[in-house]
Amino acid sequence: MRILVTGGAGFVGSHLIDRLMEQGHEVVCLDNFYTGTKRNILQWLDNPYFEMIRHDITEPIRIEVDQIYHLACPASPVHYQFNPVKTVKTSMMGTLNMLGLAKRVKARFLLASTSEVYGDPDVHPQTEEYRGNVNPIGIRACYDEGKRIAETLSFDYHRQNGVDIRVARIFNTFGPRMLENDGRVVSNFIAQSLRGVPLTVYGDGSQTRSFCYVSDLVEGLMRLMNGEHTGPINLGNPGEYTILELAQKIQGMVNPEAEIIFKPLPQDDPKQRQPDITRAKTYLGWEPSVPLEQGLKLTIQDFSDRISSAT
Ligand code: NAD
Ligand code: UDP
Ligand code: UDP
Repeated sequence: MRILVTGGAGFVGSHLIDRLMEQGHEVVCLDNFYTGTKRNILQWLDNPYFEMIRHDITEPIRIEVDQIYHLACPASPVHYQFNPVKTVKTSMMGTLNMLGLAKRVKARFLLASTSEVYGDPDVHPQTEEYRGNVNPIGIRACYDEGKRIAETLSFDYHRQNGVDIRVARIFNTFGPRMLENDGRVVSNFIAQSLRGVPLTVYGDGSQTRSFCYVSDLVEGLMRLMNGEHTGPINLGNPGEYTILELAQKIQGMVNPEAEIIFKPLPQDDPKQRQPDITRAKTYLGWEPSVPLEQGLKLTIQDFSDRISSAT
């Protein structure tokens, strides 16, 4: 099959491309390198079955493909808040263009949505039926509401134009290739402890998150794409930790001497988050298999290699 991966030079997209290439597919990667990098896809650049197109998905594009994994969108609060209007355009106009493309070429379309559609949830753990608690005018809205409209567009193209869609609601995912300046919690704590600077816990660290290792997520995305269930389907690891627990875990694994300091909690920071993955288990036969410690070990190794080669 010829498969399009938007955002394929990013963290999740590049791991997905590795799997698709290994399976013998032809892969087209569309990326504007906003948070992605060529280094992530370097190993495929000379492969005749791989094609890299530098393109901003807010502009239309015509290509012929069989499947579309639509991942293009900055995912870290630091990056998506840097230019919030652009983030909205990417989710809205970018998703519209990719759905228009899917309609024209009759490709199956998978949207990488997010647990952020649940906002600061008052239902715990979050099931797909929960409609969420998003602040539409807050600093996270460009991302959260962007993904909500992307879901709406997907379902409307499905109902109105018969586009074959899949919607994944991805919970916090981590692993090798996250940017060192990504700003997300796992990458921050690992980079900080490797550099011997204090780990920055926002608030009192009692807020929770559930962390999925990237190989598990990619397996879930591929099962969703190739299965019969439209979604939305939660993909995440139900293991829930406070941010302080995560800091202490990484501190213990990398550098027990590292200091933990507390910084102000950003506005609208969700207090708790844990996926209910009953649907993923039932419809996809999927559940995560990599324990947090093992995933952290692999990620620490990758960061350690990159940070030491940069100095
Ligand atoms: P990432 O920032 O590493 O990757 C996003 C990629 O999209 C980058 O390569 C970036 O350059 C590209 N991009 C951004 N705007 C673009 C545009 N206008 N045109 C073309 N390319 C553009 O993020 P990630 O962690 O790999 O996330 C991938 C997808 O998964 C995103 O849609 C994100 O919302 C979703 N997601 C990720 C997580 C997570 O924890 N990693 C959680 C929930 C949802
Ligand atoms: N589009 C695209 N590539 C295609 C087909 C469509 O980028 O191969 C864009 C198109 O330019 C439009 C959007 O997708 O902006 C929605 O397309 P659709 O055909 O649904 O709507 P219309 O063009 O009728 O507004
Ligand atoms: N966080 C933190 N220190 C950091 C980066 C993030 O304490 O250096 C906190 C952040 O406030 C949030 C949690 O970790 O409560 C997860 O943040 P991230 O940006 O990784 O993801 P999201 O908030 O989008 O789930």
